[in-house]
Amino acid sequence: MQVTDAVVVGGGPAGSTCAWKLREAGLNVTVLDRAAFPRRKLCAGWLTPEAMTDLELDPSDYPLSFMTFDKLHISWKAFTFTSTARQHSIRRFEFDDFLLRRAGARVLQHKVDEIRRIGGDFVIDGEYRCKYLIGAGGSACPVYRTFFRELNPRSSALQTATYEQEFAYEWENPECHLWFFDDGLPGYAWYVPKANGYLNVGLGGMADKLKQRGGHVRDFWRGFVAKLQRKGLVVYDNYQPKGYSYYLRGNVDVARDGNAYIVGDAVGLATRDLCEGIGPAVKSGRLAANSIVSGTDYTLGEIKKLSGRGFASKVLEWGIVGPQ
Ligand SMILES: Cc1cc2nc3c(=O)[nH]c(=O)nc-3n(C[C@H](O)[C@H](O)[C@H](O)COP(=O)(O)OP(=O)(O)OC[C@H]3O[C@@H](n4cnc5c(N)ncnc54)[C@H](O)[C@@H]3O)c2cc1C
Repeated sequence: MQVTDAVVVGGGPAGSTCAWKLREAGLNVTVLDRAAFPRRKLCAGWLTPEAMTDLELDPSDYPLSFMTFDKLHISWKAFTFTSTARQHSIRRFEFDDFLLRRAGARVLQHKVDEIRRIGGDFVIDGEYRCKYLIGAGGSACPVYRTFFRELNPRSSALQTATYEQEFAYEWENPECHLWFFDDGLPGYAWYVPKANGYLNVGLGGMADKLKQRGGHVRDFWRGFVAKLQRKGLVVYDNYQPKGYSYYLRGNVDVARDGNAYIVGDAVGLATRDLCEGIGPAVKSGRLAANSIVSGTDYTLGEIKKLSGRGFASKVLEWGIVGPQ
């Protein structure tokens, strides 16, 4: 049996941030992830300056693919406008690996199946024993499944369905484009260029609304890539998109049960207007670590429900998520 102070299940931004802060406080931490890093993570990879601040990361200190956009091109049904908004783009394949290495924890490739509470500790798959357990395993997190599913059930109305691809592409247009509610999609589509000749394109919508309409997010793919071609943004004929589902921010009742915590997508914290999940994952990782180190409560109230502010974001939230 391998014994450590804390085991973090999942090495994405939520898990690596929590592990990093626990290590900084002197705890012995093991991160278990079913994937070998660097691993592929479906994500458009746009990142807010606030997330960079929470990661204590200056752009000039990040050695891998990184771009900054000072505006966003937005299409909303028939309206097209440009909004000033400072955002960054990274490649998750690189970024998550960088953050996990920086955390300085022991990282093991292991798919977690069974977790038991024994004498105040947690025993994972009969192999790892710890006092603190952090569930950072995303939508399929086994810590959520074991301890939180009944305490904190997820709402199907907040489940997203996405479809996307990141690929090597010598893009000509270096700006970020978003199309909301195109062709009846209950969500939006994106074009996000990456440094060093990569591009991410994709779309996402609310799974429930798609189901009610008898459709699937992949039904919108063909029209979307045809539009990218028509606009001269992407000319490409080798698409192999993949899908992933995650949950937007609901009313989180319980994210801690004794010394078991859940963070990031395992809780369902992505914003309800732009479905941004990296920033909330990082914040929750910090908050969980702080609760463990300082013995304080773990509350998620400071994690915002919306990426933007004001009327436009409320309208977007209403349009994407609908009445709750
Ligand atoms: C298509 C798409 C586009 C997106 N675009 C953006 C964007 O542009 N900007 C943004 O901010 N957010 C975006 N998001 C949301 C964002 O990707 C997530 O919110 C974020 O990755 C959550 O981080 P996390 O650490 O909680 O989970 P993850 O990054 O999903 O990490 C979870 C980890 O847990 C591991 N794991 C799972 N099960 C087990 C197990 N049983 N045992 C061990 N390990 C396990 C996985 O291998 C994985 O490495 C997007 C999401 C999707 C699907």
